[in-house]
Amino acid sequence: MGAVAPAAPGHAVAQRRQEVADAFADDGALAGALPGFRRRPAQEQMALAVFDAISERSTLAAEAGTGTGKTLAYLVPAVLAGGKVLIAAGTKALQDQIFEKDLPAVCRALNARVETAILKGRQNYLCRLRLERTVAAGLLDSLDDVRALQHIDRFARTTVSGDRAELAQVAEGATIWPAVTSTRDNCLGSECEHFEACFVVRARRRALAADIVVVNHHLLLADMALREETDSELLPNADVVVVDEAHHLTRVAGEFFGDGWSLAQINEFAADTLRLGLEQARDGAAWVDLVRTLEQAARAVRLRLAEAGAQRRQRLAYDDLAGANWTAAAPVPAAIALLDAALGALEAALEQNAGREAELDLLVPRVQGLRRLMRPWHAPAPRGDGSGARPSDGSSDGAGNASSELVRWVSASAHGAQFHATPLSCAEPFARARAQREQAWILTSATLTTGQRFEPFLRELGLPGAVARRWESPYDFARQALLYLPMPMPNPQAEQFAELVAEAAWPVVRASRGRAFILCSTLRAVARVGRHLEALMTAAGDHLPLLVQGEANRRTMLADFRRLGDAVLVGSVSFWEGIDVRGDALSVVVIDKLPFAPPDDPVVAARIGQLRRQGHNAFQDYQLPHAVTLLRQGVGRLIRDDTDRGVLMILDERLLSRSYGKTILASLPPFARTRDEAQACAFVAPSAAGRDPAVAP
Ligand code: SF4
Repeated sequence: MGAVAPAAPGHAVAQRRQEVADAFADDGALAGALPGFRRRPAQEQMALAVFDAISERSTLAAEAGTGTGKTLAYLVPAVLAGGKVLIAAGTKALQDQIFEKDLPAVCRALNARVETAILKGRQNYLCRLRLERTVAAGLLDSLDDVRALQHIDRFARTTVSGDRAELAQVAEGATIWPAVTSTRDNCLGSECEHFEACFVVRARRRALAADIVVVNHHLLLADMALREETDSELLPNADVVVVDEAHHLTRVAGEFFGDGWSLAQINEFAADTLRLGLEQARDGAAWVDLVRTLEQAARAVRLRLAEAGAQRRQRLAYDDLAGANWTAAAPVPAAIALLDAALGALEAALEQNAGREAELDLLVPRVQGLRRLMRPWHAPAPRGDGSGARPSDGSSDGAGNASSELVRWVSASAHGAQFHATPLSCAEPFARARAQREQAWILTSATLTTGQRFEPFLRELGLPGAVARRWESPYDFARQALLYLPMPMPNPQAEQFAELVAEAAWPVVRASRGRAFILCSTLRAVARVGRHLEALMTAAGDHLPLLVQGEANRRTMLADFRRLGDAVLVGSVSFWEGIDVRGDALSVVVIDKLPFAPPDDPVVAARIGQLRRQGHNAFQDYQLPHAVTLLRQGVGRLIRDDTDRGVLMILDERLLSRSYGKTILASLPPFARTRDEAQACAFVAPSAAGRDPAVAP
């Protein structure tokens, strides 16, 4: 199937466009092939808008409310238009679902013969070489690692893809994975004896040969960053790029257009150097002494960070740790300088042994890369305002990120520390990539707008002139759902707010016999709300199953919630998105606070400072849109089907008392609304299903 090119004759484009419309008709290809398919006008309109953007190679921002069916709305035109298509999902779960279910179903329905492939980041695939070495060395830290390695070794003999997601017996967070997967630093590439059978290489080759490749945001952005930095690429050149869950794009972009290093990387480098040095060049240097010095220097950095207060908070601006206008003599930078010196000694030793063995040689660019990344953390660059953000100096900071401001910040724990340099805006690299490539970009999500305005989202991506379209959810929110704003609630900063949240939620949760999510903005609030809710249940002698985040992992909690049918789940941000509980199992969603990012977070604070310096209103342009996006995601958990019913409770009185509350309310679906607890309870009582709310929207 040939691609619809901008130069294609008008009648050919019109014919393909008609094929897209026909596919969604009552008697069309989708209705004939997909059980339960119903024609939805918004879905068809979105599909045609996507087709138009593809044929014009333009950018379309498409917001489609829950239930529009946006996956089919972009897959059908992408398949029918032909050409090379990249589809980027926000999560691995969505990536797998598109590749394994939605895309094959659409191809079958359209009788389209297209090659499809899925490509994940290299850490998702087994590395045959590292697996072989780990098995041969037999030196593992725990019995769990030994058992996991046995599973992995057996899996490696039978798997075709090498994708670790196929191996259910070994948990995603198992400590064995780094030992049997590769990084860009330690992969031998074409020098590797397993190159032809390598899972990563094969997955990339399949992606290169395919017409439609399903990737995730991380891979898409890693490819963009690599092209900015080096002119090389990870992903095939595509005619069409579709980004699903595009509201995440700017956050993920910050990781890729910035840079960073960690003490874990230093420790991995130390371990690899010691192993390879002793194996391949035992007489080449005093490896044990050199590595010991490096490890001591890494420990000293962690100690200095702790003394400077790094473990008080999860994320801290570097200037708060090193001191405003710090110099190389300040304790933390001085410790990093000693770490750099220890790396320098190892670099010299490795260079003296160059040419003795390929894996050993690979350590030289690795140590050089680490030292380059560390330099700005011990050798201060001239700065302007002491804000923690490096003012624009026209220079590149490792990611080819010329003229972008960076904020340097540290996330530290008792065991390690990560050093991040995050750009305050990704608008420039996006705008450059858009200008350089003749491809269509489709950016879609259920939550791109704030008060129906696309500007904040498009401005952050440097795409202010893009075509933007919205389609409302087809659900009847005024009939299916009730927004309950209890009165009166204190300010969310109040001392006992978490306990008051539990008290306000309990009557409704009780009336609905569980079937409730209580979504809190912090983990601390989760624990307090959970504890108080339990006390209220005990006092009432009415115990419903209570699932509190932190007591089990997310997957188990969700499985339990679905299985129990009358549970109350108390969770934080990780439960606000990507969860689909249809039907009666979820009938109440309680949100404690409007989810504004903490203004003292180093990245948020620096971004606010930057916007103010540029004369913008940081609240309207940045803080409010991000809070609205997250709130809308949380709200979106409630009504997932046209037969779902439920109550949304928002316990933040600022929604009514502050002027921005109007913008937030205008961003939510058109719920019926009440302040009356009895009405909310009656709406969710199991016997109430099917009754309409007697309140105005
Ligand atoms: S090419 Fe790289 S990823 Fe593949 S087996 Fe070799 S070292 Fe591992």
